[in-house]
Parts: sequence; structure tokens; C-alpha cells
Amino acid sequence: MHELIDDLKDIELAIFDLDGVIYLGDTLIPNADNIIKEFKDHSIKVVYNSNNSTATRQTYVEKLRNFNIKSEISDFYTSASITSVEITKIKKNAKIFVIGEKGLRTELQSLGHTIVTRPNDYKDIDFVIVGLDRDFKYSNLAIAQKCILEGGAKFYATNADPTLPVARGLKPGAGVMVNALMTCTGKEPIKIFGKPEECGINMILSDTQISAEGTCIFGDRLNTDILAGNRAGIKTIMVLTGVTSMEMIEELKNDFKNSNLSDRNLLPNIVINKLDDVFKKK
Ligand SMILES: [Mg+2]
Repeated sequence: MHELIDDLKDIELAIFDLDGVIYLGDTLIPNADNIIKEFKDHSIKVVYNSNNSTATRQTYVEKLRNFNIKSEISDFYTSASITSVEITKIKKNAKIFVIGEKGLRTELQSLGHTIVTRPNDYKDIDFVIVGLDRDFKYSNLAIAQKCILEGGAKFYATNADPTLPVARGLKPGAGVMVNALMTCTGKEPIKIFGKPEECGINMILSDTQISAEGTCIFGDRLNTDILAGNRAGIKTIMVLTGVTSMEMIEELKNDFKNSNLSDRNLLPNIVINKLDDVFKKK
């Protein structure tokens, strides 16, 4: 067993972002499987927190199994599952119009909500919830617009990531769909439940009963993973295998020095090139 770096030696719970940290699209980031296993060998609880709302948590279990990483449904906190839990606190058995994919629809349905695809009366719709939709359609945007403007439905979003990292660069993220609906309604989402909102991390801390001091998050995006982690008071570790480069972090540090930016929560506690760097070099 390798020895963890001093910064991580008291960690009991490690939260991993998925895209850009564990894999890029359908490609495992080299050695991520072994690192997860070593964390578990160190008796560190491992959970996954992704802003990607397109897949069900069961799909993630299978995806990680294909990478030789063992996991259970309850190990996953996606922006879809977090949104579903939080929406249920606002209203039970709601009627919802979704711009999004199977992951979001399934998580909402599993908690008793009804997904309406063709509303007869826009006033019937309680919520419009927007997530990443890789089959995004003008006709659905038009329905969502009417639900909000004519029916008075409340507008929520899973996340607003501008891009989605895949094996060969970047694709458009959920923020594109959220912004489309903002543009045609003149309204902002009442709440965006995914990172950088810290409610997902707080849900994890509450479910695992592990303190913020004993918890860290590994992420590849400053304005989601790192910001959420710092807001929740856990240790934040930037891994440079996804969308963020060392130059971007240096630029941000310079902005702080020149007082162009005020939110120090964007800066990670630790920056590592790859997950292997969590272990001391022999
Ligand atoms: Mg990521």
C-alpha cells in the first residue's frame, strides 16, 4: 500500500467528480481504478459527485464496473439525483416538464414525480427542470417557455456547466440549455442544484455522517467542483486531467493578487497533475 501525502493523511471520505477525474467520455483516466482501490484499502469512503445529469446512477455503476471499479448506486450523487431529492423537499408528486435526458427523468420519477411531455394546460406544470440534453429541441424549448411564462411553472436547473469534457476535447454542457431558457423567458433558474451549489456535498456529509474536516473533493473544474467544496468547508483538490490547466490556475492567482476577483473559494487547497500524486513518491 502506498502512503498518502501529508495533506490527505486524515481523510475519511473522498468525493470524486467523474468527467475529467475518473474518465474522459468512455476512456478511463490512466490508473484511476487503482487509486480508487487504494483509497478503499486505506479505509477511506469513496463517493462520486457529478454534475452530469444524463445517466442514471445504475448506468454509472455499470460504467465504472467496465473500468474495473466496484461501486453501488448509493455511492453516486449526480446533479439529477441531488435535484430530485431537493425538488421533493419543495413539493411531493409534482408535475414536471424536463429538458434533459434519461438520468434526470428516471431520478425524478423514482421519487414519485410525473414527467409531462405534452402539457394540455401549461398551468398544470409545477416545475420546469433543465439539465444537459444532447437531443435538445426547439419544440421542447418552446413548451418550457410556455410552462414558465403562461403557466407560472417554477424554473430549476441541475447544473450550468458551459462544457462537457470528452475524450477528444469539449462538447456543449447543460449551461447552454439553461441559458437558452433564460433568454426566451427573461428569468433565471430559482436554484441550480449541482455544483457549485454546496447542497450536494452537504447531502453526502449528512448521509455518510462524516465531518467536513475529514472530507475532500477531487475535481477538474474551478467554478463547480472547487467552489462547491470550499463553500462546504471540505478540502479541495484540483486534478489537471480534465478541463483546467496550470496556466488557468496561475492566471486566477494573479487576478487575486491584483484584486480583480473577490471569491477566494475558487482556489483549490491542493493542485495535482494526476491522481497518482496523492501518494508520496518512493
Ligand atoms: Mg469534471
